[in-house]
Amino acid sequence: MPKAAAPALPQFSVYNTLSRRVEEFLPLERGRVKMYSCGPTVYRDAHIGNMRSYLMADWLRRFLETQGYSVSHVKNITDVGHMREEVLDRGEDRVIAAARAAGTSPQEIAAHYTEAFLRDESKLGILPASNYPRASESVVEMVAIIERLVEKGHAYESGGNVYFDVASFPDYGKLSGQQAEGLEESGRVAPDPGKRDQRDFALWKAAEPGRALKWTSPWGDGFPGWHIECSAIVSRFLGERIDFHTGGVDNIFPHHEDEIAQSEAALGHKHVQAWVHGQHLLVDWLKMAKSTGNVYLVSDLEDRGLDPLAFRYLCATAQFRSRLNFTLASLRAAQVGLDRLRAKLHEPEGRLTKKASADAEVVRKKFWAAVSKNLNVPAALAVAWSVARSRLPGSIKRELLLDFDRLLGLDLGRQPARPESLGSEVAEIVRARSGLRKSKQYAEADALRAQLIDAGYEVQDRGATTVVTPKSEWRRAEPQISSSDDVDSLLSREPALEFTVSIVARQGCAELERCVTSVKTWLKDTPAEIIVVDNGFDEECHVFVDEVASGDERFRLFHADHFLGQAAARNVSLRQARGRYVVFIDTSVELRGDIFSRLRAMLEDQTVGIVGRWGAVTDDLRTFTEAKTSGDVHAVEGYLMAFRRSVLREAGLLDEKYRFYRHLDLDFSFAVRNRGYRAIIDTTLPAKRHEHVDWEATQPEERDRLSKRNFYRFLRKWEKHPELLTAGPVASR
Ligand code: AMP
Ligand code: ZN
Repeated sequence: MPKAAAPALPQFSVYNTLSRRVEEFLPLERGRVKMYSCGPTVYRDAHIGNMRSYLMADWLRRFLETQGYSVSHVKNITDVGHMREEVLDRGEDRVIAAARAAGTSPQEIAAHYTEAFLRDESKLGILPASNYPRASESVVEMVAIIERLVEKGHAYESGGNVYFDVASFPDYGKLSGQQAEGLEESGRVAPDPGKRDQRDFALWKAAEPGRALKWTSPWGDGFPGWHIECSAIVSRFLGERIDFHTGGVDNIFPHHEDEIAQSEAALGHKHVQAWVHGQHLLVDWLKMAKSTGNVYLVSDLEDRGLDPLAFRYLCATAQFRSRLNFTLASLRAAQVGLDRLRAKLHEPEGRLTKKASADAEVVRKKFWAAVSKNLNVPAALAVAWSVARSRLPGSIKRELLLDFDRLLGLDLGRQPARPESLGSEVAEIVRARSGLRKSKQYAEADALRAQLIDAGYEVQDRGATTVVTPKSEWRRAEPQISSSDDVDSLLSREPALEFTVSIVARQGCAELERCVTSVKTWLKDTPAEIIVVDNGFDEECHVFVDEVASGDERFRLFHADHFLGQAAARNVSLRQARGRYVVFIDTSVELRGDIFSRLRAMLEDQTVGIVGRWGAVTDDLRTFTEAKTSGDVHAVEGYLMAFRRSVLREAGLLDEKYRFYRHLDLDFSFAVRNRGYRAIIDTTLPAKRHEHVDWEATQPEERDRLSKRNFYRFLRKWEKHPELLTAGPVASR
């Protein structure tokens, strides 16, 4: 019986951001590793994007421990400093604002989120750090380093603030290759008059009147900058030289660049051997971040009946230096994978042979060798799967997989939650149904589908394949989509109908009802379809949508499993559109007469590409005003917009980077006009615009931020096309 003892120390190499290459690891001290991870800021919940970075650090640490190293792993808790600046002063965090109003202290807030963080770590199988020092408990050490930097001429005081003098540290930029914050930032932020050089950054900040968290210092009452916290905590808890420092790639600049400058200027030597940075977790291909509004918490996964370790499994399928686009669908797939892997530990014993034992040693080596090459956890997971699928006797499989689990951390010994595969009877029905679908016997196929659903299963058709799962697995019964390319594109087919009306539902049941009812009324018997995309719509409205739609085969409903962003949701309807003409209608709009035959008439003119009821004109792309008269405009507004489906072949689908609706309509209009088409409006079309619920439901600050983002995106793209400002006649204002 092979033993799970650690094999002889293999070489270990990992990508070091500082040297920009995969480097062999040589410990500073024999048998010991000192490792530091930038920890959470505890004024809000850590999201699963943050957790991906901690999972990476956990795999690094687990690997070193399985190789026989004794690892000191320190993870700081940021409970002071920039947390206050970022949040309270800008009034972004309602919890803190509420806590303040209720008389709760920042300490209590910090304690609350620290506890939540530790709980999430443990749910994800992340081994607790050796130490979680609170920043607020090392302020004395931070002040000491700052004093030393001032003495050595690397820092200066200015009006109660202390800044690091970047020019005094010639190595500045060696980690990131960057010298100063991005142009975009510096262009918008007013220069700080206290700085000698705008690259300089704060080590210490004077406390503003009324500040609750402050410390005395040689420069008066104040609080430390963010970067100095890590310099001080690393030195205090691990010493002047450490082996590894980890974080997400967004930490490289300025945080870690500044940390190197501070620590090395103060110590006079290198302080970190290898910097290991994890790539981001994305949602809809954008970095998961609170400010983007695409955040999931560990508890959100649990609410959906998923095991947090399924997220760990999902992360194990991607190399730490690759970005990973998160979808609930991929997480569900990970859950299935994890359950199947666990089930493999419960196979019959089988016969132990010499050959089996020898084979076991070969794969064992393979597993650990995979991890040793740049922490390649996905390759190691693949080895674990090769064992799981192999014909090795059950007892050897179990022993190997449990050995691997010391690294993987997936709790593989746990009894799987669900049976590993569907019963043979169910599989039989699924197979029969696929056959019927292939031969287009849809009524019969539907009868079998109903039978499966009655038996407690969910049935999802994804193209040619059908996914059948026990009902408890998903919260909602309807097929759900995670991104626009989850639906097939029908755009290469001939149109089968006259109109596709596209409606995206996000907020407000009453608005949706008003809009949909008016569309139903005025479509009359035009051959048409009404595609409603539920883009994270209020649950209680589902009943309503199902109700209006039931019995009317023109309706087609698509449920997104999260808010996809406005452009992506529209693209779901575009990919599925079967009408010759596509009409976008916003739920704030109510039709008061037949617009369809008039839109069609407008679009019969082939020089026209896009039409609508409301339009905008501009002189400079920066300010748009609403056009007052019918005729040419620079852009048709998205409230009511129509085009020939065929124009998509030239202009493309909507740009999904526009998550918020503002400027999306302008962007699409410009894309159509850029193909040489005119954009025209008819202000006499019988449609009324009511209050816009999405707008009303968004906080003013949030609106500004989201609008601004789209505005710059639009401007950067179209300022290169000045001809679009002049081409084509444009309605007078
Ligand atoms: P913060 O609380 O913002 O300081 O972030 C904590 C850690 O999470 C840092 O190491 C960040 O680099 C990392 N991080 C932030 N967002 C993401 C993301 N979307 N994916 C992976 N790591 C992230
Ligand atoms: Zn840090």
